[in-house]
Amino acid sequence: MNDRIEALILRVDSYKEADGLLQVLSKEQGRMTILAKGILKGNSKNAASVQPITHSHMVLDIKDPISLLHSATIIDFFRPIKENITNLAVASLIGDIALQVSTSHQPDDYLYQITKESLTALVHYPPLLVGCIYVSLILKEMGITPMVDGCVVCDDTKVSAISISEGGFVCLRCAKNVPSKTYDANFSRLFRYTVKAELQHLSALAKQGEYTLELLSVFVDFFKDYTSIPLKSWEFLRKL
Ligand SMILES: [Zn+2]
Repeated sequence: MNDRIEALILRVDSYKEADGLLQVLSKEQGRMTILAKGILKGNSKNAASVQPITHSHMVLDIKDPISLLHSATIIDFFRPIKENITNLAVASLIGDIALQVSTSHQPDDYLYQITKESLTALVHYPPLLVGCIYVSLILKEMGITPMVDGCVVCDDTKVSAISISEGGFVCLRCAKNVPSKTYDANFSRLFRYTVKAELQHLSALAKQGEYTLELLSVFVDFFKDYTSIPLKSWEFLRKL
């Protein structure tokens, strides 16, 4: 059979001598595992088109749990991502999260779209900003958007800290009673703007201030608090 898919290759593990096991998010089938034979050999014609963080068309035999690749053609190699370590680390975080929240052989148009657009955005915008908005959109999709319109405990509009376990901003009084961390006004403002934003607001967000690893870590902590699955790519990124 010659099935055709459009996919984002998010992870590649070596398998046996020279084969690759690809973890992809496809437009047509959601998350898939694909065996790419011989791609680690020097003369493989498919090698470039099945590198991690690549957008490709593929011809394959679709099978569950492992599909078999025949050929792949690059749509976007995302070269500027691969040439910069921070870009690549954020792209790996996006890929890790996409693989965790996707379902095998079940298409999810929205997840595919925001993952593809976020990888494309890494070429044009500060990587930590793109990381923040991607994780924020995932939280929204999972129904765990942080509460940023007032204290999540008592509704007081004067907030001073963020509580991961309570799910958003807390006021000075409530901060004493729940696990929370205090941030300055600028940090809190960027956090609130990002929670409210969609991908089309990236250029407006980029003008609001500097998106730091600390801000991204708040978004990642909300995600980890809910899923409790380790994110290897995040451990790598925070050590950069
Ligand atoms: Zn309160």
